[in-house]
Amino acid sequence: MTRFHRPSTPEPLTSCRRCGACCLKGGPALHVEDQPLVAQGMIGVRFLYTLREGELAMDNVAGHLCGVSEDIIKIRGQGRSWTCVFFDPAAQKCRIYENRPAECRVLKCWDPRELTAMYTRGRLTRRDLIAGIDGLWDLVLTHAQRVDHGQIRHLLSKAGPQGLNPEASAALMAMVRYDLSLREVLVEKGKVTPDQLDFLFGRPLTQTLPPLGVTFTRSAGQLGLAYTPAVPPLPPL
Ligand code: SF4
Repeated sequence: MTRFHRPSTPEPLTSCRRCGACCLKGGPALHVEDQPLVAQGMIGVRFLYTLREGELAMDNVAGHLCGVSEDIIKIRGQGRSWTCVFFDPAAQKCRIYENRPAECRVLKCWDPRELTAMYTRGRLTRRDLIAGIDGLWDLVLTHAQRVDHGQIRHLLSKAGPQGLNPEASAALMAMVRYDLSLREVLVEKGKVTPDQLDFLFGRPLTQTLPPLGVTFTRSAGQLGLAYTPAVPPLPPL
């Protein structure tokens, strides 16, 4: 397996020195040419998550926050960091270097033109991977309609100094309860494993909402929420 090497001098780069800096900024998004890597098990679904349409994310290529215009399948980070799950920090190497995805193959940190040209094109979708699985795709579509990140941003944008109005708060809470219960029921019934959920349905709202300023409370076993607008630390595209 190819190792990364840290450069000893700060000379301008003209070729990849395998320093791993790009891997620390986040795993790549997958494209249609990466489908065989998933289908043949080189990249397991448990290592993926879906950045859902309408979620806010940091566009590392454009250099600013943006609303995601379409679902994006990405390789997970490590724990709470965005460092690609396949990056081995101790050995400074990619654990799947020979089978790394298309974005990693074209990325040249000293000249991002090739990546810029391809990174919004031909993205792999959940439909490409699971549309043939009986019942599962319909469930994903239903969840996407009921947990709509564009609608969430719209609700949060209407908040005043006192936070969300009762209707907006109730609508948001209904989405959170549905999102939680669907995941719990599918795992309880053995339909999916917990590590497949973030790929199938995106990350849970209990994870995506707090960076936007939503806090969750529990009182007498009841889940509640409050909202204070925040400048969030958001995932990279
Ligand atoms: S797949 Fe490998 S090369 Fe690509 S970001 Fe992850 S560790 Fe780096």
